[in-house]
Amino acid sequence: MTFADLGLMPELLRAVEDAGYSEPTPIQREAIPIVLSGQDVMGGAQTGTGKTASFTLPLLQRLAPHASTSTSPARHPVRALILAPTRELAMQVHESVLTYSRHLPLRATCIYGGVDMRAQTQVLRDGVEIVVATPGRLLDHVQQRSIQLNQVKMLVLDEADRMLDMGFIPDIRRILSLLPNQRQSLLFSATFSNEIKKLADQMLNEPQLIEV
Ligand code: AMP
Repeated sequence: MTFADLGLMPELLRAVEDAGYSEPTPIQREAIPIVLSGQDVMGGAQTGTGKTASFTLPLLQRLAPHASTSTSPARHPVRALILAPTRELAMQVHESVLTYSRHLPLRATCIYGGVDMRAQTQVLRDGVEIVVATPGRLLDHVQQRSIQLNQVKMLVLDEADRMLDMGFIPDIRRILSLLPNQRQSLLFSATFSNEIKKLADQMLNEPQLIEV
């Protein structure tokens, strides 16, 4: 099986080829068609399985019809939100987003704590379609009104079990309350405790289960 067999668009196939991938990993084979179809996903996968590309590639394809080369911030509302538990993980996911979106006119940024907010605020004000963020800092920007989440069409919660361990669930619930109900949501976790299942119940709509 090839990436083309999964229904990915030429711009993404080129990016995958540039990255040197010869074939999709098992989670990519399972997840990409489901995410492309618009369904919610509950995915059980460890890092190192190719999980990041399994949600990033179809996410980019679903956003691509709305890509704009306009310089007006109003033409670049936040349409996809990817939440990660740590700055390191958020930065890695952001790198993947940049790698796979290189042939598409979509803008992405990474928002995390421990650094000055001003540079992040400026990028957000200029307009980005994709935001990769840690929960606490994202809420700081919400509070400062430097980001609006009412046009988010896709939500990814990466490493949900680590979010839980780090005490982020109240922040996640608060973020969920700011998003439109009409959206596609993906939750990835290495383990599925009752607490994660409860969160999945709140966040996902008839999710497809994927385990690798
Ligand atoms: P992840 O599980 O998302 O952290 O990805 C682990 C590593 O696998 C990353 O360095 C990716 O660049 C790489 N990778 C992802 N998909 C593929 C693929 N289909 N073929 C080869 N390497 C891949």
